[in-house]
Amino acid sequence: MRTARRTHGFTESVIRGMTRLANEHGAINLAQGFPNFPCPDVLKEAAARAIRDDVNQYAVTWGAARLRNALAAKYHNWYGMAVDAMTEVTVTCGATEAMAASLLAVVNPGDEVVVLEPFYENYGPDAILCDARPVFVPLSTTDPLDLDQLAAAFSGRTRAIIVCTPNNPTGRVLTTAELEAIAELCRRHDAYAVTDEIYEHIYYEGRHVPIATLPDMRDRTITISGASKTFGVTGWRIGTIVAPPDLTDAIRKVHDFLTVGAPAPLQEAVAVAMESLGRDYYDALARDYKQRRDILCRGLVAAGFRCTPPQGAYYVMADFSDLSDLPDDRFAEWLTKTHGVAPVPGSSFYSRPELGRHAVRFAFCKTDALLEDAARRLGRLRD
Ligand code: GLN
Repeated sequence: MRTARRTHGFTESVIRGMTRLANEHGAINLAQGFPNFPCPDVLKEAAARAIRDDVNQYAVTWGAARLRNALAAKYHNWYGMAVDAMTEVTVTCGATEAMAASLLAVVNPGDEVVVLEPFYENYGPDAILCDARPVFVPLSTTDPLDLDQLAAAFSGRTRAIIVCTPNNPTGRVLTTAELEAIAELCRRHDAYAVTDEIYEHIYYEGRHVPIATLPDMRDRTITISGASKTFGVTGWRIGTIVAPPDLTDAIRKVHDFLTVGAPAPLQEAVAVAMESLGRDYYDALARDYKQRRDILCRGLVAAGFRCTPPQGAYYVMADFSDLSDLPDDRFAEWLTKTHGVAPVPGSSFYSRPELGRHAVRFAFCKTDALLEDAARRLGRLRD
């Protein structure tokens, strides 16, 4: 029998699978990371207006001019980055397409891609799609990145490193010193940093530092983000890429043939949101998420989990060793079916399942009321 070559080695998405299981059992879905609260009105109204105004045909393949201009302004205002909207920005169908298109554009078959682990589950299949070899380096939730181990992962074959900060699934934020160390290795090995900065505005301490802003990194960094998390519109699929012109040129070709373009009226609406929402919106976003984080973390600790409050993003990895001897996938299933709270099994974030056997990931992009309800349900685990 012939096998489908490119997807050989893929497993089904565990995150999306847990959403299906949660729905089947009417459980609170703290698995897949999407908000259960409304997005800001300004986005809804701008999207409806764009549709009524007949912005209903393809946008320019690499993104509507208004959104690319808004992005260039954002990178300048927030991070002091000079970005040319004409030659350095690409709008994609979510950060997921952005990552796949970027890697397909710059990674050759046989190249190595360094991935900090635990990692968001898409990166593994992304590497397979490119025929690349992922090289994993552990990143603990609490301890500094082991810089010797990181350096040992780089070689003449390294083409890129994927950097996700704030991190999914741990909520870890890389320090400036850690980013500097990564940058230094990229420079030394002539490698690219491909970043996933989709949680750039969900911070509990400090502020986001894009690795592209470090010395000599602008030309070797592909900065990925999107509207999903910042504006609470995960279903809109609006991702963004900022990269130097030569890389953008290659990325746009992949993007064009993969998807032609992201939804035109929704690009318009995201541009309107970026133009009109001020710092108070972003401050409130971080403040509200901090409150949600605290509700969930308190509930988890009270229920008998061990966890470290994340520094950013909206996930927490929780160790359940004190509660159960089950492996992570069976524990997640049991929690969903018996207690009505669905997490993601920890092993799905690791190259070797045994590394995540005692952990599950909870998402807290939910209303306070739903999180309180989940905490109450978890509180009955030891009854
Ligand atoms: N990034 C989100 C998560 O980790 C959503 C994943 C997805 O299904 N696209 O849950």
